[in-house]
Amino acid sequence: MCGIFGIFGVENAEKYAFFGIYALQHRGQESVGIAVSDFENIKVVKKEGLVLSAIKKEDLEQAKGYLAIAHVRYATAGRSGAFNAQPFLKKTPIGEVAVAHNGNLINFKELKDELLREGEAFEYDSDTELFLSLLCKGTYTPEGLKLHPEDEQLLPYFFYVLKRVQGAYSVLFLLKDRLIAIRDPYGFRPLLMGRLKDAILFASESCAFDILSGEFWREVKPGEVVVVSKSGIRSYFPFSSSKRAMCIFEFVYFSKPESYIFNEWVYNVRKKMGEVLAQEDELIADVVVPVPDSGVVPALGYSQRKGIPLELGLIRNHYVGRSFIEPTQELRDIKVLMKFNPNPAVLKGKRVVVIDDSLVRGTTSKKIVSMLRKAGAKEVHMRIASPPVIGPCYYGIDTPTKEELIATKFSVQEIAEFIGADSLKYLSLEGLKSCVEDPEDFCTACFSGQYPLEVKEEVQRIR
Ligand code: SF4
Repeated sequence: MCGIFGIFGVENAEKYAFFGIYALQHRGQESVGIAVSDFENIKVVKKEGLVLSAIKKEDLEQAKGYLAIAHVRYATAGRSGAFNAQPFLKKTPIGEVAVAHNGNLINFKELKDELLREGEAFEYDSDTELFLSLLCKGTYTPEGLKLHPEDEQLLPYFFYVLKRVQGAYSVLFLLKDRLIAIRDPYGFRPLLMGRLKDAILFASESCAFDILSGEFWREVKPGEVVVVSKSGIRSYFPFSSSKRAMCIFEFVYFSKPESYIFNEWVYNVRKKMGEVLAQEDELIADVVVPVPDSGVVPALGYSQRKGIPLELGLIRNHYVGRSFIEPTQELRDIKVLMKFNPNPAVLKGKRVVVIDDSLVRGTTSKKIVSMLRKAGAKEVHMRIASPPVIGPCYYGIDTPTKEELIATKFSVQEIAEFIGADSLKYLSLEGLKSCVEDPEDFCTACFSGQYPLEVKEEVQRIR
């Protein structure tokens, strides 16, 4: 995952970018960066860590301008830490260009090997750099595509890049006098447009517009290229449309519940997941306990549909980051114990149904079940508001390798025993699909094993 934000046409764009990207902190916690242009020069600030603590007032004073892009990162390709922090900046035949990317290129290795053979030097080890390297390699204009005179010299460089890259990309490019937003033809990752008075905004989720008191305008459509310059906004669809494959996991876990993405409110979809799970479940229990935070909304749906009261049986310590997002197993284990505290006041002597958004390795669930029992729960029934995860993601979400996914090795009954629960039940795949408006427009590969975009074996091995 990663979060991206862009703004065009406002004084102190760097400050708006700072707050916009802060609202997307949940999408990446390893590093943050902002690239700003004053219509003459592009300046970049990049730091390791969280937005609020990493970016200082002085940093923003040295990088002032009218258009900006920003990025929060956690690694899906390449090393973590400040080294690979985005936006990347490079001199290209069309001038300096900065890039911020959410997604994952599945032909990364192939393209990089090709460019290395041609003598290209790489500064970073992230797939995102390829966008800039390829900008220096050629031009392409799809037949019959009419370009605005202002874009005629420029866009063929970008179309060449798009012709070469494959995979998931919602990406923002900053040039000294314009901003270009592109979403891959499958639409794997969300990318939205908003307005703030005369300024144009872009963001991974609508919650980034809310913090600025901006308003959501529309989605950047799958396969769309949007150019924003002083003379206006122009939209192009350079390639024929393909099947859509928007990531359903965004609704399960990653996006914030108050966000609007993929033409739906995350809250509504997530709550429905709990409702459908309740419909599929015959369990009788005394109390519904959510695993905070992403289990809260489905637990509400489950509780309301079942008529079982929802209680806060697990209290979250908010001074610790999300556990799933941490890159090493060692840190993940420590964090689970730091993260939740059981609440005996609502657990003692109760038959507890505990709701989580997903179950990946099973190690977190095991600790939660044991915590609830120690706090006095009579029975602990684990319910998961998504189907078993049976495959890794190659499209920009850092799920573990197939071997680490517990559902690839054990039956539901065996997993229940492993985590120590009295019973375990997942939302069915059909149930999950029924929660979104157009299920055929979604990627469900990590739950179904049906990958919308073929991934070569060598890439699978890298995961
Ligand atoms: S494989 Fe899973 S996580 Fe990856 S894009 Fe598809 S649904 Fe999303």
